[in-house]
Amino acid sequence: MLYINGEWVPGQSGREFESRDPASGAVLGHVADAEREDAAAAVAAAERAFPAWAGRTAYERSAILYRAWELMLERREELAQLMTREQGKPIRMARTEVSYAADFVLWFAEEAKRVYGETIPSARADHRFQVLRQPIGVAAAITPWNYPVSMITRKVAPALAAGCTIVVKPAEQTPLCAVETVRVFADAGVPAGVLNLVPSSDPAPIGEELLTNPAVRKITFTGSTEVGKFVAARAAEQVKRVSLELGGHAPFIVFPDADPVRAAKGVAAVKFLNTGQACICPNRVFVHRSIAEPFLATLRERVAKLKAGHGSTDGVTVGPLIDEQALDKMQRQVDDAVSRGAEVLVGGERLKGADYDSGCFWAPTVLTGVTPDMLIYREETFGPIVAVILYDDEKQVVEMANDTTYGLASYIYTNNLSTAYRVAEALDFGMVGINDINPTSAAVPFGGVKESGLGREGAREGIAEYLNSKVLGIAL
Ligand code: NAP
Repeated sequence: MLYINGEWVPGQSGREFESRDPASGAVLGHVADAEREDAAAAVAAAERAFPAWAGRTAYERSAILYRAWELMLERREELAQLMTREQGKPIRMARTEVSYAADFVLWFAEEAKRVYGETIPSARADHRFQVLRQPIGVAAAITPWNYPVSMITRKVAPALAAGCTIVVKPAEQTPLCAVETVRVFADAGVPAGVLNLVPSSDPAPIGEELLTNPAVRKITFTGSTEVGKFVAARAAEQVKRVSLELGGHAPFIVFPDADPVRAAKGVAAVKFLNTGQACICPNRVFVHRSIAEPFLATLRERVAKLKAGHGSTDGVTVGPLIDEQALDKMQRQVDDAVSRGAEVLVGGERLKGADYDSGCFWAPTVLTGVTPDMLIYREETFGPIVAVILYDDEKQVVEMANDTTYGLASYIYTNNLSTAYRVAEALDFGMVGINDINPTSAAVPFGGVKESGLGREGAREGIAEYLNSKVLGIAL
């Protein structure tokens, strides 16, 4: 079903599309397939609902978000089970994602009450300046499949907290997760038209409506850099406000003074998060030559122990890739790297046989001897392959780490405080984990530089993305 103007409705065409389990290929359910007209109806509902929602007090908006936070936690297990079936991540990680998604709802329930204006001294004695922060209007959100619940709450919660209304177009691979996420807000008492959902099997016409409808004043997009650039260019035609959370190519640098075992455990944990399908996954692991041996020995052991399978099976730590195209990309990157001299330390191939044949499984892989001429060195992998590069000095490794068009997450492992600060400040990335594989939280700004995006989600900054400043000049 679509959710428009407070009602669950079929699309105008009456058509539906399937949602499938990427581990088994089983059909999980059907969802109404939105067309451009449905997106237009959703925008119209959001436009009508905007004045009343913006006119509510921050305390009223906050109370509804707080209720949504409670409901999301009450439904944590069922949301997580659905996510594992529809998106593929192991159940433990799905539960973590629901908690992370709920964190944004709570955070912005609180931030709603802290949308402060400013008074600014004027150069004239008989004059005052005041700055109001007001909601932008109707926002449109386009979200990816890899974090199918939290990527929605990270946009919906700040938009609603700010007083904006919103239309969400979720990824076509995870529409059921989107429906259940929106149901949480609907059941929490979000008024009709304030939040609308238009899942579709064809993103282009929906995108076209959201990007060209003059009532939409803000576009918030999470997905690939390629589609993000298209979205930004189209939105520019009407000078819509845009936030973009795009791809990454995170460097993970292990310095000679770091504990190589701890660093290898860190790589094994963060790289296989969500089967490597996270924008913050390390894509190039730079290891100082002097500690390569203990580092690689631990990494090999850890990765060999990972168990691929259906995310709801006990002991499974790596799920399937989302589709066949993703498998083709793994094959292409491994073939290219091997043909240019890389070595496969572990894995390196599609998993076949028994249950693996009905899904898209790639063996957790470690490649060594990776060099800058290889595809994997430049292209986002978005899968379970670790690419290891040995280096000799700090200046060289910082230059190599920054030698990418992306700038989202980065990681450094060192026990030297000076190295940590010096390198963290020199890295051209929006986030740096220092001996830390999870530099994220609803309380800190998430986002990238360069072609990894514009704007920030979470933190104090997250709500500012949905607010305009208005100056009042007052002559006394
Ligand atoms: P994607 O292919 O760019 O899709 C993202 C969303 O855009 C989907 O809802 C997709 O719809 C929609 N879309 C595609 N073409 C469109 C068009 N012409 N007009 C309007 N919407 C359109 O990305 P993805 O494969 O889902 O996600 C993986 C990417 O997201 C990776 O690059 C990853 O790094 C990035 N990501 C970034 C962050 C971050 O915070 N920086 C977080 C998570 C993921 P369909 O599903 O129908 O194609």
